[in-house]
Amino acid sequence: MSEKIKASIAMLKVLQDWKVENVYGLPGGSFNTTMRALESEKENINYIQVRHEEVGALAAAAEAKLTGKVGVVFGSAGPGATHLFNGLYDAQQDHVPVLALIGQVASSAMNMDSFQEMNENPMFADVSVYNRTVMTPESLPRVIDQAIRTAYQYKGVAVVTIPNDYGWMDIDMDSYYASGHNYSSPILPEPDDSKIKDALALIKEAKRPVLFAGIGTKGATDEVIAFSEHFKMPVIITAINKGTVPDSYRANLGSTYRVATKPADEAIEAADLVVFAGADLPFAQTKKILKPNMKFIQIDIDASKIGKRHAVDVALLSDAKKTLARFVELDGAPVESRPFFDATIEDMANWREYLKKFEDKTTTPLQPAAVFKEINKHATGDDIFAIDVGNVTMNSLRYLDMNPKQKFTTSALFATMGYGMGAAIAAKSAFPDRQVFNLVGDGAFAMVVQDLLTQVKYKQHVINVVFSNQHFGFIQDEQEDEGQPFYGIDFNDADWAQVGNAMGAVGIPVSTHDELVAAFEKAESIEGPVVIDVKITDERAIPVEDLAVDPKRFSAEEIAAFRKRYEAEDLLVLDDLIEKYSK
Ligand code: FAD
Repeated sequence: MSEKIKASIAMLKVLQDWKVENVYGLPGGSFNTTMRALESEKENINYIQVRHEEVGALAAAAEAKLTGKVGVVFGSAGPGATHLFNGLYDAQQDHVPVLALIGQVASSAMNMDSFQEMNENPMFADVSVYNRTVMTPESLPRVIDQAIRTAYQYKGVAVVTIPNDYGWMDIDMDSYYASGHNYSSPILPEPDDSKIKDALALIKEAKRPVLFAGIGTKGATDEVIAFSEHFKMPVIITAINKGTVPDSYRANLGSTYRVATKPADEAIEAADLVVFAGADLPFAQTKKILKPNMKFIQIDIDASKIGKRHAVDVALLSDAKKTLARFVELDGAPVESRPFFDATIEDMANWREYLKKFEDKTTTPLQPAAVFKEINKHATGDDIFAIDVGNVTMNSLRYLDMNPKQKFTTSALFATMGYGMGAAIAAKSAFPDRQVFNLVGDGAFAMVVQDLLTQVKYKQHVINVVFSNQHFGFIQDEQEDEGQPFYGIDFNDADWAQVGNAMGAVGIPVSTHDELVAAFEKAESIEGPVVIDVKITDERAIPVEDLAVDPKRFSAEEIAAFRKRYEAEDLLVLDDLIEKYSK
């Protein structure tokens, strides 16, 4: 006779085989048998109690983004389940594997409008790549195994609904097995030399080529830089790919469009050829970032993405890292010089000088840039930056001075406010020895502040920096751009430092530059979570996607007013630099 095991303990053994270390969630009656199993397996798997399931789901998504491994969250039947949606959509849209375990009333009570019962499968249909209700206790561990395999294969969310009574039923030990230890990442497709030769011919003809490096180039730092130097092409990164190319690299122009740098927006406007590598920029067509007349070479491992954002001249269905390396191998001597490349480098150096002006300001209220100067100063070299959504996203992209050992995570496509809190909890849970920052606006912090209690409970030394200006600044700027009256974008202030203290963290209020410097010094010596509440200016940062500096498009008065408002008198213009280097 086979030995027996409780079905939910068998499920946790499957998770362990997949190297799951952390499970995020908040218990409810319909999940109690799994809670019992988590208690009995607590030496092998960490249960991290969050105070809102949304934060748990965002933590699971963030853990998957930070580690490359499946993130796991649970919610109990009804409200516990529905609270998960934001985090699950974040995982879906940033293409990471997450397993959501959903509590259900006991099988005998199902389908009878029982307390907190919902028909969960249709609700989770859109967000998931796998979405099933377990039908027998014996199948629970096998369904979980199948769910995780599917989540990895399709880089998405697997949802498993578990009737509560099944969890604590005995099943035969030999009725299941786990397949995680057999899993290895799929072999990524190899580049096709003949297509690379076609692409090389286009590159030879181009005058203003740009390498557009998306998250598909993660881990390809050396290849991206070697390609850029060999072909003398500046690099533009998607926002989510911050950190892959060091910010110190001279031809890293940062991101395009709105959370952008001025040189990246100017370079993509001027480009006559784009090598689009592992990227799927959502604004490409809607905001006319990629112009119809550009030549376009696309590298992607997903055939459904080829041609999605622009008509393609050469399509390379292969791994970006291998393909970029192969371009350099197959080409002869490096391009000696290219006026466009030199112009973008000078443009970027000038832009960095411009940003520095704000970093060095000691005015009250403080400039966000001055806060980032302190963050960069106190970074240890392998920090993890959990970035919330809003103007803080743009400022993080512009001002964080990152290297590839550090990690940057945000809710990139779904762009849900409140991401930073869960991401910081996940970062500290997965990498306890690394310094973790949660960089967040006061609007987003208010949405998830209850989970500061989670950081306190687990003694997580997270440096939460709240950029506080009592406005939904990103939306305020959109209202300005659309010529709308400002409405509904201001809100009450709170003393977030006091809130932090009341919750058991160490709160530090900051209004002046001296307080700012002292706050970051103090934060280093604190063991648990810190809340630095920085009162910042509400002045708008320069909208680089809408520069009013081109005399062909704007009057002298408009240009003068734009330069004055954004203190941009010394900002150079890429077209002038291209002319200078072309002489
Ligand atoms: P994905 O959408 O994940 O696409 C990656 C692509 O790489 C996919 O096609 C995939 O198939 C492919 N791939 C994966 N692995 C490989 C491999 N090994 N080899 C080859 N291909 C591979 N972003 C901007 O750039 N500009 C903005 O102004 C901007 N504004 C934002 C504002 C806010 C408030 C927020 C939160 C985000 C913003 N973003 C912005 C982010 C933006 O919404 C997108 O999420 C981001 O641009 C997508 O980046 P991606 O294309 O690299 O990633």
